[in-house]
Amino acid sequence: MTLHLAHTPGFTGSPLERLDHLRDDAEALFALQVEPSAQLLALDGLVPLLDVGGDRLRWLPLASVPAGVELALLGKIDGAPCFVALDPDTGGSAFSGDIRRMMGLLPATDLATYAAARSLVDWHARHPFCAQCGSPTAIFRAGWARRCAACRSEHFPRTDPVVIMLAEYRGSVLVGRQPRFPAGNYSALAGFVEVGESIEEAVARELFEEAGVRATRVRYIASQPWPFPSSLMIACIAEVDGDAITLDVKELEDAMWVSREDVANAVDNVEGARFRCPPPYAIAHTLLRAWLTGA
Ligand SMILES: [Zn+2]
Repeated sequence: MTLHLAHTPGFTGSPLERLDHLRDDAEALFALQVEPSAQLLALDGLVPLLDVGGDRLRWLPLASVPAGVELALLGKIDGAPCFVALDPDTGGSAFSGDIRRMMGLLPATDLATYAAARSLVDWHARHPFCAQCGSPTAIFRAGWARRCAACRSEHFPRTDPVVIMLAEYRGSVLVGRQPRFPAGNYSALAGFVEVGESIEEAVARELFEEAGVRATRVRYIASQPWPFPSSLMIACIAEVDGDAITLDVKELEDAMWVSREDVANAVDNVEGARFRCPPPYAIAHTLLRAWLTGA
């Protein structure tokens, strides 16, 4: 829930009821699978297929799934049990043009359901073997874990925390661009949280490493799953003690301080804006809008 934000982060707000309490209950799982309303998320690899209207996820009757296909229980939507097929050949596919197009078509709630399904399918495909002993692993807990047949280690879908932040100094915030960005695009700085680090420490470290600015106070704004493959984006604003930038040129091509007017023009896509910012489904967009509204 991010009810305090004017702009809801992308990939959140799924109506999925996750049914954790049934994941170890074989009888209940079987009952869900044979319910007439049981449905399967239609995917082509990891790309969602759309329904006939072209603007919603497509669901197929679960009864149409061939025998032998492994399934994960996503949960229930409007009372209907929802499953996704685990395809061992789908692992590791990246953010693609197909996905970008879908994200412009699907409602936020569908994107959120898709994010959960995509990360889950991708994780299974990339974890057929035990990280502890190298033996094959098998699905358990209705698709929300794998267990090693040899050493009995249990493995769970991973979530990789990433901090994404705006440094703030005297009414301006810092945005940067990587060389791979489209021309004119700038975003909040970001980086993975390392082991043994708090969110605040990761924010301060990344800002200093990438831009040479020192955080004095960090505040949390919002978070968002980013299912490429399984990040959790944690958006923060950090007050810093000066505006001198020392750029890490291995990470960033440029960074600049921008005003409220610059940010307002960027998020509203005004012609002649000083920079272009990421689209509304990216949390950098949410973060910039939150800063404008005083978050
Ligand atoms: Zn093992």
